[in-house]
Amino acid sequence: MKIVRRISELLNRDSPLTGTVPRTGLVPTMGAFHAGHLALFAAAREENDVVVASLFVNPAQFSANEDLDRYPRDEERDAKLAEEAGVDVLFAPSAEEMYPEGYATWVDVGELGERLEGEFRPDHFRGVATVCLKLFNIVRPGRAYFGQKDAQQAAVVKQLVRDLNLGVEIRVVPTVRDPDGLALSSRNAYLSKAERETALALPRSLWAGRDAFSAGSDPVREARALMDGLDVDYLDVAELDGQKVLAAAARVGKTRLIDNVILEGETT
Ligand code: AMP
Repeated sequence: MKIVRRISELLNRDSPLTGTVPRTGLVPTMGAFHAGHLALFAAAREENDVVVASLFVNPAQFSANEDLDRYPRDEERDAKLAEEAGVDVLFAPSAEEMYPEGYATWVDVGELGERLEGEFRPDHFRGVATVCLKLFNIVRPGRAYFGQKDAQQAAVVKQLVRDLNLGVEIRVVPTVRDPDGLALSSRNAYLSKAERETALALPRSLWAGRDAFSAGSDPVREARALMDGLDVDYLDVAELDGQKVLAAAARVGKTRLIDNVILEGETT
């Protein structure tokens, strides 16, 4: 596996003049890899000739009061896991490489970026959409892989691709959970043992909400009743790219977790 830090190294890649152009799959990440990331790598490995993973803790998608500085970082471990997962190129640029002095262009994703997560993280999706557009331009993938865990993010990226005619196929991989039900997240590392117990109320209440929906009753009311010990930012039924999900964000101590379950529609 090659580790690349400079954009120019990827932009100047030779394309073969004859024969077939390799199909490239891109997996954008912020590192601290877990089995959720590995599922994305596996999906990309299966469907493409070349797999590029990006490892970039994107400052543009964090607000000033968030966890940018303490976000878990371990490039050596990540590089090993990526290599074992069959990643060909790990693109790990610095913040200055991605946002050099004088950087000024941002993608405004409109209403979709203002709901749910967007209400609590105002510039989050502007940062996500901008970095994804930059990564798509740098890597030029045919396909890019995202997790259902961040359903609104996947919907934002699909809209970005549609609206700006990027011609990248967006693939969404089902949420990977620990055996106790908690969706894997790099932020789970912040949780103490007791907080982790409390955090289990998040998937359990979403599942109860899904059961209630199947039985014809109100998923939000059912889920809300089970969110003991969680400080809930939002809990709502949302239509995201043709899918109906029950989505929530909640804080356990200082850790903010998000999760969702599908009520109607498939992962793609
Ligand atoms: P992150 O490094 O947290 O930005 O995540 C990188 C990608 O992995 C995103 O597309 C996430 O949606 C996806 N991802 C994160 N956690 C999970 C999970 N538990 N299951 C599936 N995909 C995930």
